[in-house]
Amino acid sequence: MSRNSLQTHWQALSEATVRRGQAEALRRYLRTVVLPFSAHYRNLFQENGLDAESFRTLEDLRRLPFTTKSDLLNTAAQPQRFKDFILTPDPRVLARRPETIMRAVLRGRDRVRQDFEAEFRPIFATFTTGRSAEPTPLFFSQHDLTRLATAGRRLVEICAARREDRLLNSLPFAPHLAFWLAHYAGTAGGVMTMSSGGGKAIGTDGNIRLLRKFKPDILIGVPTFVYHLLHQAAEEGVHCENLRRIVLAGEKVSDGLRQKLRDLALEVGARNVDVLATYGFTEAKLAWSECPFQYNQPSSGYHLYADMGILEVVDAQTGDPLPAGRPGELVFTPLDARGSVVLRYRTGDFTDGGLTYEACPYCGRSLPRLVGNISRRSEVRQMNFDKIKGTLVDFNELEHVLDGAQHIGSWQVELRKTNDDPHELDELILHVQKLNGVDEEQLRRELNERCVAHLEIHPNQILFHDAEEIQALQGVGRLIKEQKLVDHRPQAAPRQEQATSATASLNGKESQSVGAVADKPETLP
Ligand SMILES: [Zn+2]
Repeated sequence: MSRNSLQTHWQALSEATVRRGQAEALRRYLRTVVLPFSAHYRNLFQENGLDAESFRTLEDLRRLPFTTKSDLLNTAAQPQRFKDFILTPDPRVLARRPETIMRAVLRGRDRVRQDFEAEFRPIFATFTTGRSAEPTPLFFSQHDLTRLATAGRRLVEICAARREDRLLNSLPFAPHLAFWLAHYAGTAGGVMTMSSGGGKAIGTDGNIRLLRKFKPDILIGVPTFVYHLLHQAAEEGVHCENLRRIVLAGEKVSDGLRQKLRDLALEVGARNVDVLATYGFTEAKLAWSECPFQYNQPSSGYHLYADMGILEVVDAQTGDPLPAGRPGELVFTPLDARGSVVLRYRTGDFTDGGLTYEACPYCGRSLPRLVGNISRRSEVRQMNFDKIKGTLVDFNELEHVLDGAQHIGSWQVELRKTNDDPHELDELILHVQKLNGVDEEQLRRELNERCVAHLEIHPNQILFHDAEEIQALQGVGRLIKEQKLVDHRPQAAPRQEQATSATASLNGKESQSVGAVADKPETLP
């Protein structure tokens, strides 16, 4: 089984075929691409006494140390550290290879030079998002852009788009993976694609105009923005009856949110809408999606491409790889990337369902799938809620609790300090869009009970808003990415540097005016 077969039969692979094929593809990738041309991994392999042949099976991957987010960050001593991860081919090594000599004889030296250039020369980059550190660039060569287009085309296929569909990409214009993957998914998938740039570029009104005139079959966007868009469209009596797929990226997607989006779609005349989630991250330079499934059934899981990379689930404490079906942390190794290459990348994302190789019960494809919910560890850590009556609050859980609540639309969680004193207790203020004219006191009571039952926490205040007010709070049309969590806690220590915008340095607890956002799982950007 060669990587070629993994590629040509990517939708019909057994577990044994995947594992054998991936181990073989990994050895070849290490031997011919990574070890000759990656400064970082050449050193790492040397220090650990490893070479390409050390990896006979996927179990052998445990011998390779993880690469973490912090390994990619610049330091005072290494101000351009991200460059260590860019493959830099040595023309002499390439020129000596028998296949290079053969190709030069058959097709000419110029053509061989052009091919190498397309394979290796970085021509494009996307940046990491999140507030943990300054954005890190991940570079793409033409080879990687072709790979991105292939991943996009497969994503469109898995979402069951049709050639005659129209796709409205409302992800924010930004140098982030999500936007570009959606762009390539549409164009490489042969689907008419319109990119609105989200709320900031042309406003909610501009997006509504596109819903009216372009009449998309597929709407891609960040959940918070898509919710607002459909809510406003429904209020304005817009008809968008063609809509049959909502594909979400950039934030997690709870069952409650799926239901609310389906209800809104019904209000704009779209009867059979599938709400599909995607999962990806900048370092993978890829994303995966669910296939359509009945709304009352469990998710079909993220359908993975075995030829493009190995997704491992590992025990977060010991780092040991876990068998299929076990929950743990997600770790990714590409199998064919050029440009920036990061092996055994520890995502900090946790799956509660793990991997499965069983044929998908909905679409019938046999490929590795990642099932269950994904949560991001940093969300728990960064909320830093331990002072609230001794209870640690998990933002992942909080999101599920609020999305699943009845009679509320959008919401925002605000953190403050009592009297704005940095040494005081944390306060949690819940801003909520109230729906259906329900009694405020009753709704307040219900939300309180829900928070206590699921999270053992009382919000200090619950404030109700109309759609316009909550949009203003979330920064719809003002920020590149809307905010569901804002941190208005003043800093105890003097701050090192001033953030220039909410999206530039999303560096921990920002000032009153900026407001930090949660580090969102890159269910795309
Ligand atoms: Zn499926």
